[in-house]
Amino acid sequence: MATTITGTPSGSATANLQPGPDTSVFGEAIAYFNRAADQLDLNANMKRILTHPARQVIISIPFQRDNGDLEVYRGYRVQYNFARGPAKGGIRYHPDVTLDEVTALAFWMTWKCAVVDLPFGGGKGGVTCDPQKLSMGELERLTRRYAAEIIEIIGPDKDVPAPDVGTTPQTMAWIMDTVSMHLRNHTPGVVTGKPLNIGGSRGRVEATGRGVMIAIEAALEKMGKQLAGQRIVVQGFGNVGSISARLLYEQGAKIVGLSDQYGAVANKDGIDVMAALRHIADPKNKRRALEGLAGSEAAGNRELLELPCDILVPAAIENQITEANVREIKAQLIAEGANGPTSPQADQLLADGGVTVIPDILANAGGVTVSYFEWAQDRAGYYWKEAEVNEKLRDVLRENFDAVWNTAQEHKVPLRTAAYMVAIKRVVEAYTTRGIYA
Ligand code: NAD
Repeated sequence: MATTITGTPSGSATANLQPGPDTSVFGEAIAYFNRAADQLDLNANMKRILTHPARQVIISIPFQRDNGDLEVYRGYRVQYNFARGPAKGGIRYHPDVTLDEVTALAFWMTWKCAVVDLPFGGGKGGVTCDPQKLSMGELERLTRRYAAEIIEIIGPDKDVPAPDVGTTPQTMAWIMDTVSMHLRNHTPGVVTGKPLNIGGSRGRVEATGRGVMIAIEAALEKMGKQLAGQRIVVQGFGNVGSISARLLYEQGAKIVGLSDQYGAVANKDGIDVMAALRHIADPKNKRRALEGLAGSEAAGNRELLELPCDILVPAAIENQITEANVREIKAQLIAEGANGPTSPQADQLLADGGVTVIPDILANAGGVTVSYFEWAQDRAGYYWKEAEVNEKLRDVLRENFDAVWNTAQEHKVPLRTAAYMVAIKRVVEAYTTRGIYA
C-alpha cells in the first residue's frame, strides 16, 4: 500500500527556493540552507538538486486495535539524499506528523550526517498517531506493519532508521525482527538505537548529551575559557537535557537552572544535578517532574531562558528562542541540544548581538555519530567497549567542530552558516566525485 513520490518536494517552497507565503516546515528549513549556499556561490543546478528529496514514500498502515477494530494510519519515509551513503534518520510517532515535516527532518539529517563526516545521506520517517493512546500490543502491530511496508527501501546499504520522538529502542527491536524474519536473514544493521543485547552500541543512550558537552568544551577552548565555573541553564530534562546537565556538572560547571514541561527550578549558586536525577527517579514522583527539588527555587519556563548565565542549552523542543524572548537572553554561548530550538529571526538577532550559537546539526550530532558506530559494529559483528565508543565520539566531534569553527573564521559567518557550508560542500564533492556535475 505504498505511494512513492520521487523527486517531488512537499510543501510549496522549493520551486523558487524561497519560503513562500504559505511557509512550510520544509520551506523554513531551506532558509538556513540558502544562506550557506549563497556564501558558497553554489550554482543553480546543484541548488535545485539539493533542495529536492530523492524519494518520498506514503503508506497506509492497517492494524488491529485491541478491541478488534481495524484502523488505517498513515506513515511516511523520506530519503532525502544518498550522495554520501545510505539514508539515515529517525522514525517519529506523533499526532502532528506530516509529509512536509518528515521531509524537513530528512533534509536536516542530510546536513547533520555530512557536517560530522558520516558516510550517510539523510532520511526520516513517521507515523501520524498518538503513541500514548496505544497499548504495547497495538504499538507492536503498527510498527511491524510499518516495517513490512517499507521493507524494500530500508536496509544496511539503503536506509537505516533510528528512534525519534515517540519511538524507543523497543520499536527498533520490532523493526529489526520484522525485517530479519521477512528476509530470513539476521539483519541488525537495518536500524540503530537498538537495545544492547540485540546489537545496540554501548554509549548510545548518552551519546547526544555527551556530544553537547564536547561541543561546549570545544567552543570554550576556542574562546580561551574553561568549562569549570561556567554558569549554565539547561531547558528540558529528558534524554539530551539530563545527560548534558550531568556531564557538564561533573566537569565542574555550575548548573543554575533546569526545566521540564511542568516548570523550572533555579539556584544561582548551583543545582546538585545528581540530586535532580534522584528526584525524578523517585517512585513517589509520579510525573518524574523537577518541581519540588530540594535546594532550588521554582521558576517559570519563560523566566528560565532569561536567567543570568554564561551558557544556555535548549534541549527540549523546537522554537523556544524567538523574537519574543531573544532580547532577554543573557547567555553568550548557546548549544542547541534540541532540533530547531531557535527561530531564524531570533538567530539573526543573536548573531547581530555577538552571541555564539553552536547549531543543532553540530551540537546534537553525537547521537547519530554513535548510531554510525552501532551500524559499523553490527556489520563487523564485533562490539566495542564504552570507553572506545566515547573516545571515537570525541575525535569525530572535535575534528568536525574545528572544521566548522575555521570556516566561520575564514568567511566571517556565524557557526550555523559555517556548519551548513561544511556539510553542503561535502555533499557537493560526493556528487562531483561520482560524476554528477551540476
Ligand atoms: P525527551 O522526550 O527525552 O525529553 C524532552 C524533555 O523536554 C522532557 O524533560 C520534557 O519534559 C521537556 N519539555 C517538553 N516541553 C518543554 C517545554 N515547553 N519547556 C521545557 N521543557 C520541556 O527528548 P530528548 O530525546 O531529550 O530530545 C530533546 C530534543 O533533542 C528534541 O528536539 C530531539 O529531537 C533532540 N534530539 C534528540 C536526540 C536523542 O538522541 N535523543 C538526538 C538529536 C536531537
